[in-house]
Amino acid sequence: MKEAAPGRNTGSGLRSISQQHIPARNGERSTYFTDIDFDKQGKQAGFVYFPHSPHDDAWGTIRVPLAVIANGEGPTILLEGGNHGDEYEGPIALGELIRTLDPQSVQGRLIIIPAINAPAVDAGRRTSPIDGKNMNRVFPGDHAGTITEQIAAFVNDELLPRADALLSLHSGGSSLNIVPSTIVIPCPDKKQFQRCLDAAHAFGAPMCVVMDNLGDRRLCVTAAMAAGLTCVSTEMAGGGVVTPSALDLCRQGMLRVLRLWDVLAGDEASSNAASRKQPYFEMRGAKAYVIASEHGIFEPQAVAGAQVEQGEIAGRIHFLTAPGKEPVTLYFQEPGIVYSTRQYGIVHPGNTCAVVASPQSGHFA
Ligand SMILES: [Zn+2]
Repeated sequence: MKEAAPGRNTGSGLRSISQQHIPARNGERSTYFTDIDFDKQGKQAGFVYFPHSPHDDAWGTIRVPLAVIANGEGPTILLEGGNHGDEYEGPIALGELIRTLDPQSVQGRLIIIPAINAPAVDAGRRTSPIDGKNMNRVFPGDHAGTITEQIAAFVNDELLPRADALLSLHSGGSSLNIVPSTIVIPCPDKKQFQRCLDAAHAFGAPMCVVMDNLGDRRLCVTAAMAAGLTCVSTEMAGGGVVTPSALDLCRQGMLRVLRLWDVLAGDEASSNAASRKQPYFEMRGAKAYVIASEHGIFEPQAVAGAQVEQGEIAGRIHFLTAPGKEPVTLYFQEPGIVYSTRQYGIVHPGNTCAVVASPQSGHFA
């Protein structure tokens, strides 16, 4: 049996605190509108619109796709893709889910936002071409802010309060190659943390990594964790391309998690029980990062997925227009698996060249 801690509406056990709707904050008045009825049964594929008034569209809107697939009583699961517009596996898999899932096979409700930062997705860029902002660095958003901040505020105030759990589908994007993996954010609520780990392991990726993004709390998943949801994020390869094996893992892993959460039929209970014994990896803060000290071209010494030791050479920075200057050597400061590598050869001081995920040691426990 799965552990049951009651959520207010569903009794799904996926939520730590009671659900409540949060009205506009600090007197900010939201202006978005949507053709989606969150309480309607069946499948709806529509949009949420944010008024936007640029030079060529004075009374225009920015349109963000939104779908609800609901059937009977059960948990509400929020599925997010396209938070960064150059991470493709999640939006592709979520689009397929919207098109093909029979509402009768759902027990509960899926709220799917497959291209949350739609302007960035349309541009194939990490950040929005409208305001230059990174969706995952503006939560909880601002109803009176820029477009990216307004979308985040909609998700924070309208979608998170309705949801019991969040599956947030990311990839490495243009600048990173990442080992296909699930990510869990550490949190003080041990039961919530374990529910997240259970789901992360049920996804079935080669690695599960616990990380806190150097303490940054402006992410969608961080806001969802604070709201008490059970949350799992993914990283599906990257490099600015679609990786077929990562896309297939994304499709299958998503279904496995939805079965674990009882919103789709099927039994993932065995993986749930087994996950309590499965180790995870940890990204132990700043020392996990290999950061460029110079402007030049980085020559990596280890590919993503390689095992490395503390003090091992991570790579060298070459100075192509100063051939008399010796390259500068960078070193790994933590032992573990090379979790991500930089896609671009060129580096500037402060750029991250590689990140190491270390074996579980209780760092975040
Ligand atoms: Zn991302």
